[in-house]
Amino acid sequence: MATDFRSLIPTLSYRNQAFIGGKYVPAASGETFDCVSPIDGRVLTKVAACDLEDVNRAVAAARAVFEKGSWSACHPGKRKKVMLKFAELMQKHKDELALLETLDMGKPISTSAGGDIPGSIQAIQWYAEAADKVYDEIAPYRPDSVSLITREPIGVVAAVVPWNYPLLMTSWKLGPALATGNSVIIKPAEQSPLTALRIAELAMEAGLPEGVLQVLPGFGETAGQALGRHMDVDMIAFTGSTQVGKYFLRYAGESNMKHVSLETGGKSPNIVFADAGDLNHIAKTSADGVFFNAGQSCNAPTRILVQDTIKDEFIALIAKHAKPWAPSDPLDPNTTMGAVVDADQMNRVLGYIESGRSEGATVTAGGSQVRKDTGGAYIEPTVFSDVKNDMKIAQEEIFGPVVVAVTFRDEAEAVRLANDSIYGLQANLWTRDVSRAHKVARQLKAGTVVVNNVWGSDITNPFGGYKQSGIGRDKSLHAMDKYCQVKNTYIQL
Ligand code: NAP
Ligand code: MG
Repeated sequence: MATDFRSLIPTLSYRNQAFIGGKYVPAASGETFDCVSPIDGRVLTKVAACDLEDVNRAVAAARAVFEKGSWSACHPGKRKKVMLKFAELMQKHKDELALLETLDMGKPISTSAGGDIPGSIQAIQWYAEAADKVYDEIAPYRPDSVSLITREPIGVVAAVVPWNYPLLMTSWKLGPALATGNSVIIKPAEQSPLTALRIAELAMEAGLPEGVLQVLPGFGETAGQALGRHMDVDMIAFTGSTQVGKYFLRYAGESNMKHVSLETGGKSPNIVFADAGDLNHIAKTSADGVFFNAGQSCNAPTRILVQDTIKDEFIALIAKHAKPWAPSDPLDPNTTMGAVVDADQMNRVLGYIESGRSEGATVTAGGSQVRKDTGGAYIEPTVFSDVKNDMKIAQEEIFGPVVVAVTFRDEAEAVRLANDSIYGLQANLWTRDVSRAHKVARQLKAGTVVVNNVWGSDITNPFGGYKQSGIGRDKSLHAMDKYCQVKNTYIQL
């Protein structure tokens, strides 16, 4: 029987304090902030607003356990066991986690229960299993010596994460960082702290030593910056905007040159050649890719590049397939698009829509705020045509349910426009011509290229960007490298 999520709401109790040294504690200052649900503008709870002193305490606890070695130097098989148990406990509480995610950031319950939470559990599980399956190396060095190349955990890792996939982004960091033996401090986005706070106690219950996982809710400028500038944090694993990613590079440069891995913004091109085939299918898949999660996906295919000979037909089809994404109550299991994360984000997106209009683009579908009477933050699925690639709406990441369509004449122009962006996270292209597919894919400057689809994501595959979409890769075994130092030991025989 399908879970009745609404009936679970009264049973929820929110973890709203920081999690430091294995315990929930108030912020040292006693300060809190309101955790607001974008579904109806209601305050769900007041959450600890962590700052420098809390960061200092969390880093000290993380460092202490790291040096003690109870996690960093334990048998990898033990890490596997504890993490598998952790995943099992997340599974046991999956409905609660899904509901927390939906209440906290407004995505449909079908998405959190069907995507975010299972994906998060899978990430923890996958890296748990990898913990005792990745081998070190011996170099082909001189016969009178042995040269060992070994990986060691980096130390204290601070994961600073966004609100669009709160627990999933957390788990993409947590999985490989824990599997390789690090101590981790999570700083969730101020809009979405609830799931990260809840899983901290599940990790303890699974047997993670105190101090190995801590969660510091709070603001970017205070808690986030304090982590970025801390002299005893060894690494920042960041997902968020390009602008804040650059701040972390600066913080590292002005402090201890900590490692910084960045998964940042995107404005992914979606190239549709005239030879692509079934335009109705392509338009539907493309619209689904844009409007899923209310457009709040870093790799959403939000910049359609369509060949001029099919543009009218294709844009009409996109507008048609935008319609089923009309926003509705996130707690209704049939809802496809919920609220955007908060009123600020809604106003930012509406500002972009206004800018598109004033730059001369045409609103072919949507364009307005809806469901105002709910008190929540809802925007119609919006399609812009007559867009030039140098317009603001084609260059900047809108991060809402808005897609723009630009036309091109030939393959060379398609590639040039696709790469005419500061971002390089993902690029999609549609063609039936196999050599064109390979040729164009090679020329696209993006960490992920998807041919004849817009969906291409799995924990087994690396994910990250070229250019200002980031530095480093999440997911897959590649992600484990970035949480490790590589040590070379020579032994003279
Ligand atoms: P954001 O504003 O950059 O925030 C991300 C995190 O950084 C939050 O925890 C935030 O805290 C913190 N932060 C903000 N200002 C800070 C500062 N001055 N110093 C230190 N930390 C600071 O991003 P967002 O709006 O939450 O998320 C949307 C962005 O994430 C989009 O750009 C999207 O493309 C990107 N994203 C990228 C990927 C990827 O894998 N490439 C995946 C998902 C999302 P506060 O909550 O207090 O602001
Ligand atoms: Mg919230």
